[in-house]
Amino acid sequence: MNKPHLSQSQLDTFCKCPEAWRRRYLEGHRIPPGIAALKGSGVHKAAEINFRQKIETHEDLPLDEFREAAADGFDHRVSREDVALTPEESSRGRRLVLAEAKDATVAMAEFHAENQAPEYQPELVEARVRILLSGKHDLLAVIDLADDQRRIVDFKNGKRRFSQEDVDGSVQFTAYAAAYQGLKGEPPSSLVQDCIVTTAKGPTRQRVETAREPADFRALGRRIEAVSSAIEAGVFPPAPPGAWWCSAAWCGYHRTCPYVSKRS
Ligand code: SF4
Repeated sequence: MNKPHLSQSQLDTFCKCPEAWRRRYLEGHRIPPGIAALKGSGVHKAAEINFRQKIETHEDLPLDEFREAAADGFDHRVSREDVALTPEESSRGRRLVLAEAKDATVAMAEFHAENQAPEYQPELVEARVRILLSGKHDLLAVIDLADDQRRIVDFKNGKRRFSQEDVDGSVQFTAYAAAYQGLKGEPPSSLVQDCIVTTAKGPTRQRVETAREPADFRALGRRIEAVSSAIEAGVFPPAPPGAWWCSAAWCGYHRTCPYVSKRS
């Protein structure tokens, strides 16, 4: 199938900053992951391995297998890619920073195993769903987890708490819901952002639920058409002035971006 697609993460990137999308998907300029992304990869890998086997066994893996899978997932990514360290991390030394990050990854995987995994009996794990559209691009969604109660679950971890508005307005969740409807012929019962939020006292859990209705799918369709037309026309404006993600801390292209005037 030669027709190009837009994934939910591409749509998300384009909606935040078309120029960042151009750098990543047209120029192929990949930014090495930072420490937060590496930790996320390790926890995600452990969750995926557990949920895949749980479809059949209905049992979670023992805790030491979560730890091992998370550590392996972390090491695997470090072995294959460069790592983007902040100046502060570089000053502390790569080896120390990576060792601390790996320990934190294993601790988050333990937290996931004890607090999140037992709540879900999976039916779909990492399910890739292509939605055929009439325009220039199809939509490709990858559903991390859908359970036997028709809930779609997206796991996140980091320091930031999600607001209800974040989750209600998430294009990613609308794409998941459309994909689920296309695959199963019925809508999901709910969409769950299940997060591990790391605080000074250690990991805590935050769970935010949302839902989608037909009007959301129509809006998503119009959004995909607009993005597709902009790509066809080669129109890639920068992020809006003042956007929090248009900063050195959040955008890996910031240092070389022609739209940034202050290199702070
Ligand atoms: S620095 Fe700002 S404008 Fe430039 S690519 Fe990143 S988000 Fe877009």
